[in-house]
Amino acid sequence: AAPAETTPFRGLPIRPELAHEQPYGAPQLDVPVLLNVNENPYAPAPEVIATIAREVAAAAASLNRYPDRDFAALRDELADYLALESGVPMEPFSVWAANGSNEVMLHVLQAFGGPGRTALSFAPTYSMYPEYARDTHTRWVTARREDDFGVDPAKAAAAIAEHRPSVILLASPNNPTGTALPLSTVEAILDAASATDPATPAVVVVDEAYAEFRRAGTPSAVSLLARHPNLAVTRTMSKAFALAGARVGYLAAQPHLVDALRVVRLPYHLSAVTQAVARAALRHRDALMAQVSSLRGERDGLVAWLREQRGPGGAPLRVADSDANFVLFGTFADRHAVWQGLLDHGVLIRETGPDGWLRVSVGTPEENATFRDALTDVIQALT
Ligand code: PMP
Repeated sequence: AAPAETTPFRGLPIRPELAHEQPYGAPQLDVPVLLNVNENPYAPAPEVIATIAREVAAAAASLNRYPDRDFAALRDELADYLALESGVPMEPFSVWAANGSNEVMLHVLQAFGGPGRTALSFAPTYSMYPEYARDTHTRWVTARREDDFGVDPAKAAAAIAEHRPSVILLASPNNPTGTALPLSTVEAILDAASATDPATPAVVVVDEAYAEFRRAGTPSAVSLLARHPNLAVTRTMSKAFALAGARVGYLAAQPHLVDALRVVRLPYHLSAVTQAVARAALRHRDALMAQVSSLRGERDGLVAWLREQRGPGGAPLRVADSDANFVLFGTFADRHAVWQGLLDHGVLIRETGPDGWLRVSVGTPEENATFRDALTDVIQALT
């Protein structure tokens, strides 16, 4: 046997499949322009900070008690917001929340995945999905997205019939590509799940973390909930609500699906402080949605500008359509050189996605201008 120092985790009885794993996460570097993790670039406004401070102070008065385990008030207000945003009526019992939509989706895998079961998604997609599968002992399989990063409904149906998943994860808008799926594709996947296993069709999760940034004419999958008992739509307050630090994600589904998630959650998983912060931010939704609208405009401007640029080899850049608050662009023979060049200019973006592509989050107009100038310089230097 190897000496203790050279065995992973110093000989502790780590699960074998974890022995060579690294904790997930992008580098957290101290750089002037942070455009690497799709955060909202705007810090909470003074009015939002004041409401949060007041609500947290009120919650502090009873922190000796466990919080409302079922977060009834927050569910009410999330249902209200989602109904308003999507135009679809929503009951509080149809809403679930946790510490980020990451935890919401982990709950889904805990309830509907597990040993002997399979989770299916369409790559390239959000890199945390395989970790939810790993951590719940669920087999992980992917089918490919097309060249435009869309999902072909017939190929999706074939993959569902072949792998017979119990959970299907569909990010729309997708990370890292930014592309949203037409509702007809989501419906085709729901139909394929039902056709493959009519008695217990797979749970289909549409991960709408970036939904508020979608372009006009791209409806939310929330409108399909009433007809599909196996559909769950996840959302987050991390992006549109500029609340990544508070860790609040949520999900909408029919109440029986939510009941299954209640079985696997830890008791009191959503702290009283978290509930208070989320409710305070929801009260400012009008102002926050106005900010989202300006970020959408910045995003469209960034896509248009990138499409006019040429890479170091002289070929026009390729830029994926984006319904999110980030843009995937490329392709570069040496994407790491471009990423490093930008970092040397004080701009941190993300080296992710298919070979040769890079992802940049939409920042403030000033940050986007700094990014554009830096990219122009870097491409020039590499030409
Ligand atoms: N889904 C997608 C597609 C994401 O990109 C992210 C965050 N990067 C999440 C879910 C999770 O976000 P959170 O846990 O902050 O809600």
